[in-house]
Amino acid sequence: MGEGRGPQPRVVIVGAGLAGSLLATLLGRRGIAVQLFERRPDPRLAGAERGRSINLALSARGLAALEQVGLREEVMKLALPMRGRMIHDVDGGQNLQPYSADGTRSINSISRALLNATLLDAADATPGVTIRFGHRLTELDLDDGLLTFDTDAGPVPERADVVLACDGSYSAARRAVTFRQGFTFGQDYLGAGYRELTIPATAAGEFAMDPAALHIWPRGESMMIALPNADRSFTCTLFWPTEQLESLRTDGEVLGYFRRHYPDAVELMPTLAEDYRLNPAGSLVTVRCRPWVHRGSPRGEGDGGEALLALVGDAAHAIVPFFGQGANCGMEDCIEIDAQLAACGGDWATALERYQCNRKPNTDAIAELSLDNFVEMRDRVNSPVYRAKMASQHWLERRLPGRYVSRYELVSFSTTPYADIAGRMRRQNRATAGAAGAVTLAALAAARAWQHRRDEAQ
Ligand SMILES: Cc1cc2nc3c(=O)[nH]c(=O)nc-3n(C[C@H](O)[C@H](O)[C@H](O)COP(=O)(O)OP(=O)(O)OC[C@H]3O[C@@H](n4cnc5c(N)ncnc54)[C@H](O)[C@@H]3O)c2cc1C
Repeated sequence: MGEGRGPQPRVVIVGAGLAGSLLATLLGRRGIAVQLFERRPDPRLAGAERGRSINLALSARGLAALEQVGLREEVMKLALPMRGRMIHDVDGGQNLQPYSADGTRSINSISRALLNATLLDAADATPGVTIRFGHRLTELDLDDGLLTFDTDAGPVPERADVVLACDGSYSAARRAVTFRQGFTFGQDYLGAGYRELTIPATAAGEFAMDPAALHIWPRGESMMIALPNADRSFTCTLFWPTEQLESLRTDGEVLGYFRRHYPDAVELMPTLAEDYRLNPAGSLVTVRCRPWVHRGSPRGEGDGGEALLALVGDAAHAIVPFFGQGANCGMEDCIEIDAQLAACGGDWATALERYQCNRKPNTDAIAELSLDNFVEMRDRVNSPVYRAKMASQHWLERRLPGRYVSRYELVSFSTTPYADIAGRMRRQNRATAGAAGAVTLAALAAARAWQHRRDEAQ
């Protein structure tokens, strides 16, 4: 990084999404001047894009990060707590699976636009932070520390000593290093894509389903989920192999498919055909790359024009959304950078190396957990074996508080490093294998008996 330019390096953040606006606020509060560039117009004025992840589940890690900038309470006022999964059968039956052993802990449904607006307001109000909307990064030359932004007024150059790339899964900043020697990069598309749909409030202005749950319709090949919104609607997301998502061409085909597979939901979706036609299909990608930190090469002796680059949030590690952790995890990145900067007395090169070293194993771990959870949500959540396993885990959690904690709780209700979760699960499973087996068998027998009674009654 350039030397001899005085104590304050020029810091640029690319992308004012969830990670970028949080990171700008954290750095500004540390007295670091930051320029934050965003390709879109100000979303607080322009509104959200149609059909693009309208709400998301915020849990312990995101809340801990928001706490650091004093926003936890403000954000929680905008959020709706969801205490468990409500599973919808094809025949219209529903069963609630609490997320925690005592049934009281919740993940929180929040409007992405409101969360982003709150974070942007905080960045705006932080001395030293300048936000420039309508600036799309098109080129990044690390050797010269030069960024070029596309704007309505033409290309705008900008110089930086430190570039923090928070520009999402398809990061333009990352493209600048993709062909560097030693850069390992993988972008894996899940066979399934998604389409967002709506369950509006009822005519009486009420929620059409229980708002204290995340609703899941597991159907094997396809799956739909729904999260509540503050206006008493639900945003539904249908996950389905991409080619299938595109296979329903007419309104009649859409309605026919939903009546067969999601009959209880279709009754609550008066704009289903229109939403299906107009909302774009999104894709789901896992990005794995390393290193996250890059350094430009000086052009000549004493040049000092080179810059440091670090990838942050989805730009470093986009994951599939089935554990509801992408944004939570990106916010944890920001906290780690801030903490390392404090620990290293503002030495950016060391702080960013440590950030990468500490975060990479964790983001690798949550990427795998998220892929596993897709199979669990889509195929297993409604099976008697799965329900029995959950019941036995909750029993163990109540009996052995602190000594047995389920994987879901460790991911969503704790800030235990993701990379430590698998090892902890193995250890506690070994220690409790006998008890867990006995309880699972008992719970399984009870679930089978219940299913038998229900089948007899039909
Ligand atoms: C369907 C779906 C559901 C999800 N649900 C959840 C959930 O429940 N919980 C959860 O924690 N996560 C969830 N996620 C993941 C979450 O949305 C992402 O992990 C999170 O948004 C990443 O934040 P980010 O700031 O890194 O990137 P982004 O939110 O993508 O922000 C990137 C920003 O950079 C800007 N930008 C892009 N390119 C440029 C450029 N060239 N120049 C300037 N600016 C640029 C963009 O406009 C954007 O503002 C979900 C994702 C999807 C797709």
